[in-house]
Amino acid sequence: MIIRHRKITIIGAGYVGSTTAFAPLSARAVNELCLIDVNTALVRAQVMDLQHAVPFLGTAVVKVGNYSDIRTSAVVVIAAGANQKPGETRLDLIQKNSALMRELGPKVFMMNPEAIVIVVTNPVDVLTYQLIRMFPGKKRRIIGSGTVLDSARLRHLVGAHFNIDPTSVHAYICGEHGDSEFPLWSTANIGQVPILSYPGCTKRTLDQLFMQAKNAAYTIIAGKQATYYAIAAGVTHIVEAIFGDRNEVLPVSHLLMHYHGVSDVCLSVPAVVGRNGVRTQLSLKFSAREERLLRQSAAQLKRARKGIH
Ligand code: NAD
Repeated sequence: MIIRHRKITIIGAGYVGSTTAFAPLSARAVNELCLIDVNTALVRAQVMDLQHAVPFLGTAVVKVGNYSDIRTSAVVVIAAGANQKPGETRLDLIQKNSALMRELGPKVFMMNPEAIVIVVTNPVDVLTYQLIRMFPGKKRRIIGSGTVLDSARLRHLVGAHFNIDPTSVHAYICGEHGDSEFPLWSTANIGQVPILSYPGCTKRTLDQLFMQAKNAAYTIIAGKQATYYAIAAGVTHIVEAIFGDRNEVLPVSHLLMHYHGVSDVCLSVPAVVGRNGVRTQLSLKFSAREERLLRQSAAQLKRARKGIH
C-alpha cells in the first residue's frame, strides 16, 4: 500500500543533506520536508532557499525541523557528520561518525519506532550495521544508500561508452560502498544482451569503466570538496520506492545473513525495497570470482567495524 502523507526528515543540512532535500522537492516526491542540523544558521538558510524554490515545484511544506517531526515522518534520512577530505577513504570516517550514530539512532526510533531510516553518512555500510546492532528489531527498516550511487555511476559510464541510454544498462556494483566494492558483470546486460558478449566489449574496457566508477568520488572531491547531486538523486529514488511501495530492486546496504556464504554484515546486493524497507534480497547467481569478492568485501567491513568503540 502506498504511503499517502509523504513526509521526510533529513538530519544534516550540509552538501548532501541540502541537495537531498532539493531533489525530492523537484521530483514532487514529498508533501512535507523537515531539515535538522546542529548548525542553526546553516539550516535556517538552507530551508529559506528551499522554500523559495517551492512555488516553482508544487506545494510541499519545507521547514526547519526538530526531532519531534520524526513522529510523523515515514522516512528519516541521516546525512549528518564528517565527509571525506581529499585523500581520505570512507572508512577513515568511522570514529567521528559512529559517535554520531549512537546519538542519533535512539532519538529517531524513540520518536517513531515505525520510521524507515536511510543512512547516507559514511562509511555507510558500517554505520548501517551499527544502527541495526542498536535496534535489531528494525533490521528491515534501516537501509544504507549503499552502492545505489556507485551502480548509477557505472551505468552512466557503460552507457556513455557504448552510446546506449543508461536506463537500458542493467549492471550493479555490490559489496562495500567504498574501496572493496565490485561489479556483477556475470549478470550485467545491455537490453537483454549479456554485457560480456556485447559487440566491442572487452574485459579490459569493463575493468576500466569499473575503476572510473569506483574512483569517481575521489576525483569529484579533489575538484569540489564533496559529492552530492548524484547521491541526492539516488536517495530520492529510494524514498520514492518506499513511498510508492514499489518493491523495486535496488543495491542498498542491508543486513545479510547466509547470502553466498556471507552473514552478519551490512553491504549492498540487489534487494527488494518497498514501504516496509528491505523485503528480501534477490537470489542472484554469482560467478566464483564474484562470490570471492563478496566475501572479501564482507571481511574488509568486519575488520573496519572493530574500530568502533
Ligand atoms: P557537510 O560537512 O557538508 O555536512 C554535514 C552536516 O552535518 C553539517 O552541516 C553539520 O553541521 C551536520 N551535523 C554534524 N553533527 C550533527 C548532529 N549531531 N546533528 C545534526 N547535524 C549534524 O558534509 P556532506 O558533504 O553533506 O556529507 C555528509 C555525509 O554524507 C558524509 O559522511 C559523507 O561522506 C556522506 N556521503 C555519503 C554518500 C553515499 O553515497 N553514501 C555520498 C556523498 C557523501
